Amino acid sequence: MTQTLCQLENPDAFIRRHIGPDIEQQQQMLHQIGASDLSTLVASIVPENIQLAASPLQLPPASEHQALSELKAIAAKNLRFKSYIGMGYSAVHTPPVILRNLLENPGWYTAYTPYQPEVSQGRLEALLNFQQVTLDLTGMDVASASLLDEATAAAEAMAMAKRVSKRKHANKFFIAKDVHPQTIDVLKTRAETFGFELVIDDAERACDHHDLFGACLQYCGSQGQLHDYRPLIASLSEQGVIVSMAAEFMALVLLESPGKLGADIVFGSSQRFGVPMGYGGPHAAFFATKEAFKRAMPGRIIGVSRDVQGNTALRMAMQTREQHIRREKANSNICTSQVLLANIAGMYAVWHGPQGLMRIAQRIHRYTQILALTLQQQGLKLRYAQWFDTLTIEVADKNAVLQRAKQQHINLRTDLPNAVGITLDETTQRADIVTLVEVLLGRELSLDFAQQDVAACQQSIIPEGLRRNDAILAHPVFNRYHSETEMLRYLHKLERKDLALNQAMIPLGSCTMKLNAVAEMLPITWPEFAELHPFCPTHQAAGYLQMIEQLSEWLITLTGYDALCMQPNSGAQGEYAGLLAIRRYHESRQQGQRYICLIPASAHGTNPASAQMAGMEVVVVACDAQGNIDVEDLRSKASEAGENLSCIMVTYPSTHGVYEQTIREVCEIVHQHGGQVYLDGANMNAQVGITTPGHIGADVSHLNLHKTFCIPHGGGGPGMGPIGVKAHLAPFVPGHSVVSSTLLTEQGAVTAAPFGSASILPISWMYIRMMGGEGLKQASSIAILNANYIATRLAPAYNILYSGPDGRVAHECILDIRPIKERTGISEMDIAKRLIDYGFHAPTMSFPVTGTLMVEPTESESLVELDRFITAMLAIRQEIEQVANGVWPLDDNPLVNAPHIQQELLTDWSHPYSREVAVFPTATDNKYWPTVKRLDDVYGDRHLSCSCVPISDYQ
Ligand SMILES: *Cc1c(COP(=O)(O)O)cnc(C)c1O
Repeated sequence: MTQTLCQLENPDAFIRRHIGPDIEQQQQMLHQIGASDLSTLVASIVPENIQLAASPLQLPPASEHQALSELKAIAAKNLRFKSYIGMGYSAVHTPPVILRNLLENPGWYTAYTPYQPEVSQGRLEALLNFQQVTLDLTGMDVASASLLDEATAAAEAMAMAKRVSKRKHANKFFIAKDVHPQTIDVLKTRAETFGFELVIDDAERACDHHDLFGACLQYCGSQGQLHDYRPLIASLSEQGVIVSMAAEFMALVLLESPGKLGADIVFGSSQRFGVPMGYGGPHAAFFATKEAFKRAMPGRIIGVSRDVQGNTALRMAMQTREQHIRREKANSNICTSQVLLANIAGMYAVWHGPQGLMRIAQRIHRYTQILALTLQQQGLKLRYAQWFDTLTIEVADKNAVLQRAKQQHINLRTDLPNAVGITLDETTQRADIVTLVEVLLGRELSLDFAQQDVAACQQSIIPEGLRRNDAILAHPVFNRYHSETEMLRYLHKLERKDLALNQAMIPLGSCTMKLNAVAEMLPITWPEFAELHPFCPTHQAAGYLQMIEQLSEWLITLTGYDALCMQPNSGAQGEYAGLLAIRRYHESRQQGQRYICLIPASAHGTNPASAQMAGMEVVVVACDAQGNIDVEDLRSKASEAGENLSCIMVTYPSTHGVYEQTIREVCEIVHQHGGQVYLDGANMNAQVGITTPGHIGADVSHLNLHKTFCIPHGGGGPGMGPIGVKAHLAPFVPGHSVVSSTLLTEQGAVTAAPFGSASILPISWMYIRMMGGEGLKQASSIAILNANYIATRLAPAYNILYSGPDGRVAHECILDIRPIKERTGISEMDIAKRLIDYGFHAPTMSFPVTGTLMVEPTESESLVELDRFITAMLAIRQEIEQVANGVWPLDDNPLVNAPHIQQELLTDWSHPYSREVAVFPTATDNKYWPTVKRLDDVYGDRHLSCSCVPISDYQ
């Protein structure tokens, strides 16, 4: 048969690469579950009143190469100027060994958040390194494993200061004027919803203000100035004010640690440790505090614990404190953070070691000294006398300076009156200094570097009292891996400890661990995207803005909304931004009294945590026995709230994995009472192309681009959580105080950069471009097919907790382990850990219902892999029966002893089952070996240690 030219051109080739089962396998699966064809299956599951006839997006698919070349042409519109703007973002050299073996390596970037420590020891160690770097550089006692960015970390520090301050009646928070403007912007937004009063003044005047519960200082200041804050911090502390300090890793290599200066909380950006600027992100913020405040910290902390055999093992410490469990009582709504970027920063320190970092930091400082000295010799005036890498230079004819800078393809900081700012970085070279001098002087100058170096060495710009004199990074991990061979092997050693998507399916409910195609990943490291400063003139970012605008339009179409805000850099951040828009909207209509947020009992923990942050009060709506929202309860709670009803937050399909038939009615009831509908978009993978939140009747949603739209999880971040809104909410979404663009509103910001983690947006752009409108619909349909295939095949062995009409599920299903546990004593935890022996990552455990496992296969898993998983689950079910039948005792069987590690095979084997059953329950090829046994959670919670294991344990 002759194929048409169009078939030969094969524009939909990518769709078949993205989707696991081929047409024949789809038929086989449909047959197995008793469905005639795919569209009938989907039509029978999705409520009729919300289905769309066709995918709303009219976009043809493109092959990988075509999409890449289209995006390359867009990227080429970005102008790669050298940016000396500073303000928290600097150019870097990402060490190639880290670039290829970590950032571009699916073993690292496709991993999930380390909830299952037994399959996560590698990235947990990498995060522990990051925490150790944080501890050494900040001089604090406890550090966390990354927050979203410096500005949001500042907001978390403010909230934490309120929690721990003994001045319970104080309601004012002080911000020093020289904190980065974008940080002040985010602090303003957050203070508004918490009801805090902000005082912004010169740092020296902090003590003149009364009723402060906390303060925020920046070290060095945004314009470079370096102060000795010891006396100020001492007097603030004396008054009971909690002092938080923004800092930056590279400067801290040379400077006295904030801990020694007396700060209570230290946070900042780790971007300069090898992470490209990427037009604003993603980058990891670090966060550290004193021992006494550790339980009030936001975000996740990696702790050193032990496994049941007493071996040292790492885990997320005190994780139960976080939003999943504590809901509106959580310290923050942080879920996805910045693991991949924290790992890069930590590895940058491992690679360079203390001497290497010292050399880099000193070189930056020396170049800055030489530049300063030269300019002063030529009669220019510096506004500050003490600095690390940033100069504020007074200029008579600023326009002329900026004109010359432009000719040299250089960006300086321009927002300072009668002055320009220059921040040097690790990429700065002698020739750059020469150019900068010419730009500032307006004439050539022959610079004798040797002579200037001698002169610079005689100056001491950093005062004695602010110079670091303690050793940093003495731990062996920072002193061992300095040859590339050693480093390569260290990275690989950690990678091998972990189970990521390059090994097996990760069947996590709600998290959509689908394919992250290489063609989607390639553009993020293109220099056209990686090297842009977020505050460069917007015309230099024309490619970015075009890509963002196009992606926004596609997402608007796919969600049925009218506008989209591309700022929030996680789903939870999107929730916060969306609730904020609702709040501002009500206020604009003189309805500011609306403060009640209805949330179904089944909601994800970030929902109530975000509502609390947005200054709302959470009222829980019951679910019925089928897991659906109890509409009668909703009706009465909504009418009880009445004039005070702000909104409802619902997830659709529900976290129970069903398309609720009543969703339209739910929206109507809330609207009738003047409330707004926030639809949590984490489950968009069951909607794209089939229905839209806008069509369903919602007003605002966040999209987890790191779930449905293919940004990899990175081991727990980065993410992007843009929000789609109906027109009436559009004026109230976040804007930005530093950058103005037609794509931004005039409102305050929720994150540091105007477009959040802009540099990972090409991933979602590529995905949509390659799939096209119909391809996306097909993806959602196969996600539903895959989930129903699993549900149908497992139903004889496991109770499927919730289902819709015809007993069908949506794109995920919940296996109820409670009856099994009651009868046999084997728990969902035992099954989850036993799956590791079979080579799988555990499903989501005990969410949204305790004692259950939630499975979401996604469209990307092939029939072969689904069958492998099903076989494992059925085999495990048989093993449970062996326990029930008394063949194996309840306290000694392959389930409760799971996972099994290599070492225990060498000891006297006294279990009532064989070694083969323990470690090779199915096939022997492609075996995944966990490196630790089950973690001892109780021990870990009692003994928090978040620094690298002692050197004595190491040898
Ligand atoms: C993942 C998820 C969130 C939170 O998103 P993050 O990006 O992790 O902050 C919120 N709601 C639901 C239902 C989710 O699955």
